Amino acid sequence: MLVRPAEWAIRRLSPALIAFTVLVELVAVTLPFLLPGRPATGGDWLRFGVLLVVGVAQAELSRRTERMRRFLASTVHVNMTSVWIFAGAVDLTPGLAVALTVLLFGHLWERIWRQLASRPAHRVIYTATTAVLSVLPVRPVLAAVGGALPFLDHDLRGLVAIAAAMAAFFVTNSALVTIALKLRYPDLTVRELFGGWDVNALELATLCLGALTAVVLMAHVYLVPLVVVPIVVLHRGVLMRQFQEAATTDHKTGVLNSVAWHDAAARELDRGAEFGVLMIDLDHFKRVNDTHGHLVGDAVLREVADTVCDQVREVDAVGRFGGEEFVVLLPGAGLPDAIRVAERIRTAIEDLTVTEGGAAVSALSASIGVSVHPMAGAVLEQVLLAADSALYEAKRGGRNRVVSLLDPA
Ligand code: GH3
Ligand code: MG
Ligand code: MG
Repeated sequence: MLVRPAEWAIRRLSPALIAFTVLVELVAVTLPFLLPGRPATGGDWLRFGVLLVVGVAQAELSRRTERMRRFLASTVHVNMTSVWIFAGAVDLTPGLAVALTVLLFGHLWERIWRQLASRPAHRVIYTATTAVLSVLPVRPVLAAVGGALPFLDHDLRGLVAIAAAMAAFFVTNSALVTIALKLRYPDLTVRELFGGWDVNALELATLCLGALTAVVLMAHVYLVPLVVVPIVVLHRGVLMRQFQEAATTDHKTGVLNSVAWHDAAARELDRGAEFGVLMIDLDHFKRVNDTHGHLVGDAVLREVADTVCDQVREVDAVGRFGGEEFVVLLPGAGLPDAIRVAERIRTAIEDLTVTEGGAAVSALSASIGVSVHPMAGAVLEQVLLAADSALYEAKRGGRNRVVSLLDPA
């Protein structure tokens, strides 16, 4: 069934974004015809056919994994298809490389994405467009750096040429995706737009596999299917990691959720060593919501979570128990250390000013209860109870303070 234009999700987008994407799409449609290219040989057609077959086979094998991704909310979506597209960009004439890109995206659309609401048609078209435009500079860059395919003479020029071609592909693609995302979600930070180190490392890995595929394709065309299995496995592994992260993270603040924090604490308890626990509760947080609204309240929660994380070590586990209550696990910390860290967090929250949606919220404060294992008890519940009682005392004593009910002597 055809999608009726009135139902296209694109109608909800801003004029600037629509203008930009249409411009990029026009360039992608015309540029392949303007660039000089040599006529395709029989070898080109054979390599084109092989890449198309393995690309389709890999997408079919990854279908379940790709469909599962709809459960994950992430703006950046690394596409394993770049392996075949980049190999095509290196080995084929520009016309065939573009045709391969369009066919592989068409296949993904038909078999997977058109059933997913998270991947509306205009987004898939834009992604395919950026891939087409990323393909185009690859051959000119290779030629300019002087890498003669298939790099079989053993000098370093092949490496330099392929690295430059990978960079050209990567930069073109990232720039076009980042600009469109920024127009779509103006509030996103650069990190959220560009994706973290993990996402970009994965993109680099797919380009490396694409480069190796390109060399294998020239040297021994029938060995190319060997690349399919590692890609299917890598794709699945990445998805599992994303699921694991989603399952252990508090979505509002990015710190651990309650279950994951308890797991971390249980592991620490099993080791039998000393550790501190801080229970942090924002003071009069309801007033922030009442004065500025829930969205500003949420921004405050995020910034407080970031502030707490900034004040503790990499090994410490910060979690959110719900509402405006955070908890910190401090492995190896005795009572004086834990109190010192709590005091540092309390001061940092006092100094915080959160600006969001035109509002500036300052004069925040938090009450913090401190407890230590094994001083407060051998069981996690006892340690948490002691922290909670101390927090209650801090509230009762006037808020904005650090309290421990344990006797340091
Ligand atoms: P106290 O100093 O006694 O801790 O006062 P308080 O207002 O911070 O405490 P109380 O527990 O009465 O209220 C907590 C408020 O936190 C109530 C609720 O509106 C708000 N809250 C809980 N979860 C969220 C959330 O996810 N986002 C926002 N914006 N507010 C939340
Ligand atoms: Mg509170
Ligand atoms: Mg509370």
